Amino acid sequence: MKFSALLVIVLLAPLTAWATDAPPPRVNRILTAAEQAALTPDDVIVVFQQGNERFVSGTITSRDHSAMVREAALGQHPKAIVLSCIDSRVPVEDVFDRGIGDVFVARVAGNFENTDILGSMEYATKVSGSKVILVLGHTECGAIKSAIDGVELGNITALLARIKPAIDSTEFDGEHSSSNDAYVREVTEQNVRLTVANIRERSPIIAEMEKVGEVKIVGAIYDMHTGAVQVLD
Ligand SMILES: [Zn+2]
Repeated sequence: MKFSALLVIVLLAPLTAWATDAPPPRVNRILTAAEQAALTPDDVIVVFQQGNERFVSGTITSRDHSAMVREAALGQHPKAIVLSCIDSRVPVEDVFDRGIGDVFVARVAGNFENTDILGSMEYATKVSGSKVILVLGHTECGAIKSAIDGVELGNITALLARIKPAIDSTEFDGEHSSSNDAYVREVTEQNVRLTVANIRERSPIIAEMEKVGEVKIVGAIYDMHTGAVQVLD
């Protein structure tokens, strides 16, 4: 090998190493209508589970939000709608490593459905083509604990009344108190299960879409301590 060729290799070597170590390019595009249409509900559930694994391991995707904002202005084709509590410690998009244009999010303290949220879910699925409805409860939920304690204050009283059916239908041997973590967990899961059942019962549109396999309704719990989302059976 000629000296000049060897010199080029030696000089390029550090550049090659640098390129290998460089962070991956940031994601800068949003889901298209064709990409959304090609997904099944089960595909979307896998995408969300994998995204949550990245969130838990601290490897969520780096996104160029400025570029995505401009592209998203042309339209949206989100994969799913998530119904979450308002809790500031549950950053829904981050929890599933989703970006702009990826997911509809409806939020109300206690993550239960009502007419407006059912309408939002019907818009997300029937009109906009989303494949999954995910009801996401979480541990350490102040709304659940307040409902258990029978808190009464302004409009909060009516809000907490919506969680009462979950309390009344929770079967639990042991102390029924907001200081009993195991009991609070049971009520939290029951609240999610009741919400999933109510969506099916109160939205014939969504129930029909689920029957023919166009959507899936899934209940899950976000663990405040680990960041992990556990899907309920
Ligand atoms: Zn909450």
